[in-house]
Amino acid sequence: MQNDSRIETRAIHAGQDPEAESGALMTPIYANSTYKQDQPGEHRGYEYSRTGNPTRTDLETNLASLEGGAYGRCFSSGMGAINTVLNLLSAGDHVVAGNDVYGGTHRILTQVYEQYDLECDFVDTTDHAAVEAAMQPNTELVWVETPTNPLMNVNDVSALASIAHEHDALCAVDNTFATPYLQRPLEHGADIVSHSLTKYLGGHSDVIGGALIVDDEELDAEIGFYQNSVGATPGPFDCFLVLRGTKTLPVRMDRHCENTAELAAWLAAHDSVSKVYYPGLESHPQHELAAEQMDGFGGMLSFEFDGTLEQASTVVSETDVFTLAESLGGVESLIEQPAAMTHAAIPKDERLAAGLTDGLIRVSVGLEHIDDMKADLQAAFDAATE
Ligand SMILES: *Cc1c(COP(=O)(O)O)cnc(C)c1O
Repeated sequence: MQNDSRIETRAIHAGQDPEAESGALMTPIYANSTYKQDQPGEHRGYEYSRTGNPTRTDLETNLASLEGGAYGRCFSSGMGAINTVLNLLSAGDHVVAGNDVYGGTHRILTQVYEQYDLECDFVDTTDHAAVEAAMQPNTELVWVETPTNPLMNVNDVSALASIAHEHDALCAVDNTFATPYLQRPLEHGADIVSHSLTKYLGGHSDVIGGALIVDDEELDAEIGFYQNSVGATPGPFDCFLVLRGTKTLPVRMDRHCENTAELAAWLAAHDSVSKVYYPGLESHPQHELAAEQMDGFGGMLSFEFDGTLEQASTVVSETDVFTLAESLGGVESLIEQPAAMTHAAIPKDERLAAGLTDGLIRVSVGLEHIDDMKADLQAAFDAATE
C-alpha cells in the first residue's frame, strides 16, 4: 500500500494486508497470550500479548497512518492513553492544560498526579498570552484539546505547539472530537496525538479504547516502555472492533459533518434556541481558525434552549431519535444536559461563568435522517414548553 495514498484508501488498507497463511482479508483476532520461540529469545516479533499482539499491531499501524505519524500505540481506554503521556513526566514537573479539557483529564491531573508532585495549571488555551504567562521553567507538557467540550472552542495547534517548543516542552493534542479525517495535529507541530477510540474511531458505541500517535522514534520507544510496564493494553477483540470502525471513518465523518451543519443552521434560526455552538457557523468566534485547521467542522454541537434547567431536562428526556446518554461519536444520535450530567459537579456560579448555562444541551449528531432529527427535537421542545 502506497504511503502517499489518500486517507479514504489508507483507512481501509493501512496495516491491513491479507493474512499470509490463509489469505484472510480481515485481520484475525489473535486470541492468545504467548508465542512459540524457536530458540530462547528467538521469535517472530511476538513474545507475550501485553507487549505485542498482531491484531493490535495492525490497528496501531492503521491509526499511525491516518494521523500521518510513524508510530501508533493502543491502550485499553482513552484514559489509559492519557495516563501514559503523564508517565513521561517526573515529580516536580509542571503541566499547562486547557481549562475546558475532558473531565477525566482534569481528574487524573488533579486527583491522581498531584499526589506524585506533578503540578498543573488550567488556562484558557484560546488566549495565547495566558498560555505564555503560565509557562514555567519546569513546564514539560502543554495539553491541548480542540474542539473542546461542550462549548466547541477551537484551539490553534500551531501556535500552542510553538509556545510549548520555545520552552522545551512537549505539545500533546487530544484529537478525539475531530478525528484524523478532519484534523491531523502532527501536521501542525504537535508531538503527541491522543485518542479515545471509544468515540468516532470505533464509531459504533460498542468498545472502549485509546491510542497515542507520534512521529519521533525515541518518544515512541518511551511510550512503548510505559505501555508494556503499566499494562493498560487492549485485547485483540477490542482492536478488531476498532479496525472495523476505522475503515468507514471517512464516510461516517462526511455524513456526521453534513447532518450537524444542517442541524446547526436549523437550531440557529429556531425561536426556542438562544445560542448555537458549532465551529461551522460563521458566528463561532474561531470559525476562521477552524476552517484553516480542520477539513470539516465535526459532528458535535451544543445549543442553549431558551428555558429553565427543568425545561431543558424535559427536552433531553423526551427525544426518541436522540438517546439521552453520555459519550459521543457513534452512528446513533445522543443528547445530554451538561448542567445536570457531565458538568454537574462544577459549583453553579463557576459553571455559569464558564458559559455552561442551565439550558445548555449537547448533541452528538449521528447518521439518522436529518428530517427525523429535527422532528424529534421539535416534539421535545413542544413537550418542554406546553
Ligand atoms: C471520552 C474521552 C476521553 C476518555 O476516553 P475513554 O475511552 O472514555 O477512557 C478523553 N478525551 C476526550 C476528548 C473524550 O471525549
